[in-house]
Amino acid sequence: MIDLHMHTLFSDGELIPAELMRRAENIGYEYMAITDHVDISNYDFIVPRLITAADELNGVSGIQMLPGAEITHAPPQLIKGLADKIRALGAKLIVVHGETISEPVMPGTNMAAVLSDIDILAHPGLVDDETCKIAADRGIHFEITARKGHSLTNGHVAKMAQKYGIKMVINSDTHGCNDMLTKDTAKRVLLGASIPKDQIDGIFLNSQAIVKKLL
Ligand SMILES: [Zn+2]
Ligand SMILES: [Zn+2]
Repeated sequence: MIDLHMHTLFSDGELIPAELMRRAENIGYEYMAITDHVDISNYDFIVPRLITAADELNGVSGIQMLPGAEITHAPPQLIKGLADKIRALGAKLIVVHGETISEPVMPGTNMAAVLSDIDILAHPGLVDDETCKIAADRGIHFEITARKGHSLTNGHVAKMAQKYGIKMVINSDTHGCNDMLTKDTAKRVLLGASIPKDQIDGIFLNSQAIVKKLL
């Protein structure tokens, strides 16, 4: 299993990186990204610590972790600059917390995200055509999520991704250890978003390609 969206207690998750990695390894994960919530106030605190965790733990674990960040509720005008700063610090994977219908995310967040140097637009809610065209052009992935609330629009996100040729990934958005996914559950979430059976393996391969590129 590859899961590219997980939280530790550096933001609002329950565990420190070492325990989250160990528990993920224990249920069969091979690769994971820690993408704690950041804005302009805390990215420079969190990102270097996740890089240290990856540097020290990857070599002595049965799981490999990509240090990342999830830009969360940053005003759209600040997203591009923040992504550049996070990248400059050495984060491997950047997620943006998209316009989920379960939170009052500022309108314009999805568009600002796809115009920035990021990897995954998470739970983009009722994402529009214009944003999709740019995401497709710029090779930005859309996330199908197992997270309650955010998953309410998985069907729309999958339909738009298929219409515009945007690559999808499936992530847990883990906050506690019970949120982690087995491959079987991940498959069922994808089928539940009306993704045809013969495209499911391709979605797992998208996550694999990201890991290969970034590790
Ligand atoms: Zn959170
Ligand atoms: Zn998240």
